Amino acid sequence: MAYILSLDEGTTSARAALYDREARRVAMRAAATVSHFPQPGWVEQDALQIWNAQLSAMKETLAAGGVTPGEVAAIGITNQRETTVVWDRATGVPVAPAIVWQCRRTAPRCRELADQAALITERTGLVVDAYFSGTKIAWILDNVAGARSKAANGDLLFGNIDTWLIWQLTGGKVHATDPTNASRTMLMNLATGEWDSDMLRILNVPRAMLPRVAASSGILGVTDAAVFGTETPIAGIAGDQQAALAGQACFTKGLSKNTYGTGCFALLHTGGGVPVSKNKLLGTRAASADASAQFAVEGSIFVAGAAVQWLRDKLGIVTSAPETEAIAESIPSTGGVYMVPAFVGLGSPHWDADARAQISGMTLGTGRAEIVRATLESMAYQTRELIEAMEADSGASLRELRVDGGAASNNFLMQFQADVLDTPVVRPADTETTALGAALLAGLATGYWGSVEEVQSFWRADRRFEPAMAASERDGLWAGWKDAVRRVRSTC
Ligand code: ADP
Repeated sequence: MAYILSLDEGTTSARAALYDREARRVAMRAAATVSHFPQPGWVEQDALQIWNAQLSAMKETLAAGGVTPGEVAAIGITNQRETTVVWDRATGVPVAPAIVWQCRRTAPRCRELADQAALITERTGLVVDAYFSGTKIAWILDNVAGARSKAANGDLLFGNIDTWLIWQLTGGKVHATDPTNASRTMLMNLATGEWDSDMLRILNVPRAMLPRVAASSGILGVTDAAVFGTETPIAGIAGDQQAALAGQACFTKGLSKNTYGTGCFALLHTGGGVPVSKNKLLGTRAASADASAQFAVEGSIFVAGAAVQWLRDKLGIVTSAPETEAIAESIPSTGGVYMVPAFVGLGSPHWDADARAQISGMTLGTGRAEIVRATLESMAYQTRELIEAMEADSGASLRELRVDGGAASNNFLMQFQADVLDTPVVRPADTETTALGAALLAGLATGYWGSVEEVQSFWRADRRFEPAMAASERDGLWAGWKDAVRRVRSTC
């Protein structure tokens, strides 16, 4: 019996999952990854801790499935995107903490780039923002003694987490990424899929430290037997959101999904044409099942489920994320309370790095339940902002929203999402679409599965949430949200 092993390195945990021929998940294990917040707006992780967490999740998953490394036909990798690791080629030791995608430390540098914003968007599809890897790489080179000259000599390597894990798994033999991850660096030419010389010059990043851009679905190397136990092909790579798009069986133009994880990310597949957003969405690469270039538009929200973690870890008003569902349902409404979770600024469609979170509309009657409910509702409101921008870009309205990610298991949130969008929300039977997507890409590359049509046939709905809110109520709530967002904006 052969299986596909998927490694899914997210912001909060490193997971591994095994899939059989019908793409059924036969085992999955997770190990926590740790974030550090050394200054307001800064977010760091230890790349070696990430690798160790991934390794233990991988070993535990194989053990739980009763599967030996020799029974793994291929490995797929998916990862938190943009998070930036720079390490020494000779020793394999990172030269600085990994700068996590949420980190705002390069916001001042991005402000300096404002006069080149049009060129940067035209080349990369991205909005100039600290979110992307390019300014994070430059920050490390400028703040670690001797790093810039070493990088220029090729003695330091850059990678997002996919590249870091591939390098570790192959015993330092392969330094590669895929177009979906590369399209988040602000260094890749979105149209050609190659590193863009002008972007390297503008952001001052040496080409010598960059990985090779390989296909999302294709064998790019084999594991080192000393690390994995056997030489097994690594055959699927995609950033987490593009992997989720694949895992939701969205391989063709017009299909879309929204993932509710640490952040919230809506992607609409736009086929083979380079997308140009007029509404501050991002143009990005979709994971292609063949050699063709495939694209998507994306709306990115920095803090979604992370606000629930904040309720748990900083406010201490919940002990677990799932508990929020019953707490929110214990009251009929927030009574006018809104939480705008701009803890690290606002992403799409506002792109306001200096906005900060606020809870507004509180009275003496406001308590824990109102704040919890407002936090969940903020994910739905932020998603509506993305969907409205996508609809304005495409001129078409969404027929249904396919959802996944940790917080998609929250039934209150999913019903509120359908209500506030006035659109049905569909949750698949397997909400671990990120891990599944990477597995599908690896299985397609190695002939484990024969065609995109075959893997699309695996997708099953679990539950459909139909909109049930009166238009007047929806409009009133939406007006209140827009007002709350205006309050947190740093400009206008
Ligand atoms: P990531 O891949 O970004 O690490 P996940 O998809 O695993 O994230 O989702 C975890 C996030 O979802 C956490 O931020 C957590 O607070 C939130 N979350 C998980 N379960 C629930 C739930 N039942 N209700 C609300 N939020 C939840």
